[in-house]
Amino acid sequence: MTTDLRANSDRLWKSLMDMAKIGATEKGGVCRLALTDLDKEARDLFVKWCKEAGCTITVDKIGNVFARRAGKDNTLAPVVTGSHIDSQPTGGKFDGVYGVLAGLEVIRSLNDAKIETRRPIEASIWTNEEGSRFATAMVASGIFGGVFDLEYGLSRADLDGKTMGEELKRIGYAGDEPVGGRPIHAFFETHIEQGPILEHDKKQIGIVQGGLGQRWYEVTMTGVESHAGPTPMRIRKDAMVGASSVITAINKIGHKFENACATVGLVQCMPNSRNTIPGKVFFTMDLRHPFDDVLEKMGMEAKEACEKAANENGLKLEFKEIWVLPATHFNKDCIKAVENAANELGFTSMPIISGAGHDSFYINKVAPAAMVFVPCEGGISHNEIENATPEDIAAGCSVLMRAMLERANS
Ligand SMILES: [Zn+2]
Repeated sequence: MTTDLRANSDRLWKSLMDMAKIGATEKGGVCRLALTDLDKEARDLFVKWCKEAGCTITVDKIGNVFARRAGKDNTLAPVVTGSHIDSQPTGGKFDGVYGVLAGLEVIRSLNDAKIETRRPIEASIWTNEEGSRFATAMVASGIFGGVFDLEYGLSRADLDGKTMGEELKRIGYAGDEPVGGRPIHAFFETHIEQGPILEHDKKQIGIVQGGLGQRWYEVTMTGVESHAGPTPMRIRKDAMVGASSVITAINKIGHKFENACATVGLVQCMPNSRNTIPGKVFFTMDLRHPFDDVLEKMGMEAKEACEKAANENGLKLEFKEIWVLPATHFNKDCIKAVENAANELGFTSMPIISGAGHDSFYINKVAPAAMVFVPCEGGISHNEIENATPEDIAAGCSVLMRAMLERANS
């Protein structure tokens, strides 16, 4: 393999900045919601660039786009990369679109170097990853991965009642290809980290091992509303006191297990009046861990904490587990390809686990997958101030290219 093959940093950066004009916001971010005219414009530009780079384009029934650079043997399953081109309403210039344009840059760089691969190489766009306009994030990669069916995806509606199916037709991206069943030899996704670890540890490349499993809960504690003055402390049934001890216990659970996250992020106190003892408190719990058995244990401890708090404070407890996402473990060969690439190119790197969800999680269910992370400023994303350096962006793309080459010649 050519040892010094690198992505063209200036060209990749310029493509990112040109793409960021589509849906640019005053504060320097991007608002490019799924299947809007802006999403169409961004897709059209990507397709134009890919065609100029000699690719053939395929679009499936949920609007996922695959741009293929032919290999020596086109009967073999391709090596695919990609991410999403839609954004949050107050999104940044890198989340998702970096992974799409890094794919294009790999193709352009291979063209420049006149490198032929054994397998075809593809850059892809996955529809509606963010889930902000049409609820259910990562819905199109989810259909591809067999988690949702096509009808479910096409029928997702926005607040005006427009469905993904209608909007795909309107912008011309309701393709003919079936969703899924398309063999992929290996899948890679480059993404900004969306967390502070790489920046803090001064590493340029995150070798993503997988993603945290998640368990979401809704808890209601009910006591007795009563006047804050005449009611003595010893006979109170204060739902807020129960909830507050759970909040502290959940935080302790998060600290107790290595690599765990535990958050109470939403609390509603009723009647929420300064001189009434809270009669009812509703709150959510979000538990995350890279291993499902540990996550289950965390869930049990969280439940015990709720029961203990309810008993001690004379409260009625309603405890509901509303969502379980198993932990993602990426493919060993694909992780290794990323690790080798980072080492051979001389970038500083570290293994890392994604706390956020990504299209790769669902694609990993039907094809060997892995991800490459690069640092983002302050670990901030889903924000117009989201930022990354051209050097890190190019480093991630060079690692992607090398990993793809390794798998494309296997
Ligand atoms: Zn993203």
